[in-house]
Amino acid sequence: MDTERIHRQIIMTHYNTPQNKINEKIAGYDQQKGINPSCGDELTLHFKYENNILKDLKFEGEGCSICCASASIITQELNNNTKDEILNKIKNFSNLLQGKEFEESIVEDAIAFSGLAKFPARYKCAFLAWQTVEDYLKKN
Ligand code: ZN
Repeated sequence: MDTERIHRQIIMTHYNTPQNKINEKIAGYDQQKGINPSCGDELTLHFKYENNILKDLKFEGEGCSICCASASIITQELNNNTKDEILNKIKNFSNLLQGKEFEESIVEDAIAFSGLAKFPARYKCAFLAWQTVEDYLKKN
């Protein structure tokens, strides 16, 4: 299988069987909404964030396959990371989506979105969950 197919499969697996997707608030979690009007993607992320460390991240919402797969992936990649580590991952993921240089070891499964560099219109779909985490961390 070529890399592109493997990447597509990672995205579709996360879309079809999302990780850490919930349907209601959990006590002790903060919420942050993210909206991408150009596609109709809407997410709410739920954070358990203590002492500068993200203990747990969950999401709810609806959107296209890229948006939902990206949300599922991000919920698996940030647990027990510090604010600085997370902001660094977000920066690297943004670079990946734009075809700029990024550190492969930092982005983990999110490497699956590297093909999107050819489709800048989908940037907001793939980045929505990450943007929402960044918005939350800037306030907390
Ligand atoms: Zn979308």
